[in-house]
Amino acid sequence: MGMTGAPIRRVVIVGGGTAGWMTALALTRMAPPHAPTVTLVESPEIGTIGVGEATLPTIRHFNVWADVDERSFVRETQATFKLGIEFRDWREPGHSFFHGFGDHGPEIAGLSPYHQLIRLRLGETLDTFSLPAQAARLNRFQPPSSDSRSLASTYSYAYHFDASLYAQHLRHLAITAGVEHVQGRIVDVEQAGESGLITRLRLEGERSVGGDLFVDCSGFRSLLLGQTLGVPFEDWSHWLPTDRVWAVPCAGTDTIEPYTRSTAGTAGWRWRIPLQHRIGNGHVYASAFEDDQGALDALMRNLDGEALAEPRQLRFKAGHRRHFWVGNCVSIGLSGGFLEPLESTSINLIERGISQFVQLFPFGGLHPVLADEYDRTMINAFAGIRDFIILHYRLGRRTEPFWRAMRDQPIPDSLAEQIALFEQTGEISIRDPESFAEPSWAAILFGLGARATTFHPQADCEPRDAIERHLARGRDLITQHVGQMPPHRRFIERLLGETGPRP
Ligand SMILES: Cc1cc2nc3c(=O)[nH]c(=O)nc-3n(C[C@H](O)[C@H](O)[C@H](O)COP(=O)(O)OP(=O)(O)OC[C@H]3O[C@@H](n4cnc5c(N)ncnc54)[C@H](O)[C@@H]3O)c2cc1C
Repeated sequence: MGMTGAPIRRVVIVGGGTAGWMTALALTRMAPPHAPTVTLVESPEIGTIGVGEATLPTIRHFNVWADVDERSFVRETQATFKLGIEFRDWREPGHSFFHGFGDHGPEIAGLSPYHQLIRLRLGETLDTFSLPAQAARLNRFQPPSSDSRSLASTYSYAYHFDASLYAQHLRHLAITAGVEHVQGRIVDVEQAGESGLITRLRLEGERSVGGDLFVDCSGFRSLLLGQTLGVPFEDWSHWLPTDRVWAVPCAGTDTIEPYTRSTAGTAGWRWRIPLQHRIGNGHVYASAFEDDQGALDALMRNLDGEALAEPRQLRFKAGHRRHFWVGNCVSIGLSGGFLEPLESTSINLIERGISQFVQLFPFGGLHPVLADEYDRTMINAFAGIRDFIILHYRLGRRTEPFWRAMRDQPIPDSLAEQIALFEQTGEISIRDPESFAEPSWAAILFGLGARATTFHPQADCEPRDAIERHLARGRDLITQHVGQMPPHRRFIERLLGETGPRP
């Protein structure tokens, strides 16, 4: 595809879902005089995917950078705070563990604490060393402290929110910041003869929008990258065979839990995401192992309150487009790929796409090195998250055919190496720290009962009873701290002050 050295003045975003509006808002934060004009085209008739309610803590960096005020964001999107994910029945029915956004204590004798936990056979009690896990257990929440010497600085948090309200909130901010908003369905895409660059979008009703650079945020349709430019899809469904979901909101309960719950089932898992005004629920499953009616029944049977809408079914496939940037088309969001929502990673991938795109923005023209670098980053990000998600299925001991198949099938070499390293040395090697760092991998490995046969020899240098005392002190401090945190619901009410939650 041809490249040009012409400056980029007009950026056109296709799609008004989370990806489209986050990208639009981010581009308005680029400094003048180089900042391009931004037009966003969306079709209300096609609509957005309307799910995507749980996030990772990185969303807070995006919000700060894009100047999204936390209090109005929490109010406008019915958001709650998320300290991590509780995994129920994953290892085996009746077992539960927590993946919290925080560490499990400081280094001991220059080594991560996991070596001592292996040495003292305390892996089963990992959650008791996690402040967010303990706070979540008691439904308490308070933001971390910025004082790096404080125990309260050792964790982080993300949000749960209503995806449609989030898109609306961002739309309001982006339009206020100067983004041109065009509503209509794109029916044709024009390309320049020789270069193949996209030049113009044709909308129904004889309208058109031209631009220098096009961002494909058109969702699973992948209107530009997939349909127009024909970029092939790298199919990962042999590794991640879940391919369908039923989703339904239900009435909330008095307690608002500051965490997502993921409960394993016959051929997949179920999410429970508490918002201020309702609970989001979904049942993710592999259609090769569970039929639609069985999946729907399992979802509806387990609701905590009255269903607030008809259940909706969505279909998806794990994988990504082979390229994310081709010529003058850059993909952000579902148009570039999708991995099932087990660890709430799609919006994180959107953030990473946006930050890389802004970093590599082709001020000096469209040079292939920019597209190559963008592809490299996004492919790495997808691969890192893919491995982390597969890990969850790999280690469980459930006995249904789906779970046996997940345990027996080949896994990517990168993950096989990671598991072997842990089992043989107690070390955790992190290849993609921007999504999940060592404490996250540790939470899943220990939580699912992975066994390290040995630990770092230096961990033996300190006497056992001294380490035991040290760890017990750490646990006590966590208990004391968590005891002073307010209930999550009360924290939200206080944050929203007199205005209270949205009606
Ligand atoms: C079951 C499920 C659960 C999920 N849960 C999570 C989660 O917990 N956390 C998380 O981070 N992510 C989650 N995601 C992913 C998340 O929903 C998406 O990443 C996010 O919403 C971004 O979607 P998008 O903006 O790329 O696409 P969409 O929301 O689908 O938006 C596409 C846009 O393109 C427009 N469009 C398409 N074709 C045309 C056309 N011809 N003309 C004009 N406009 C057009 C549409 O109108 C729409 O505005 C989940 C996804 C699924 C499927």
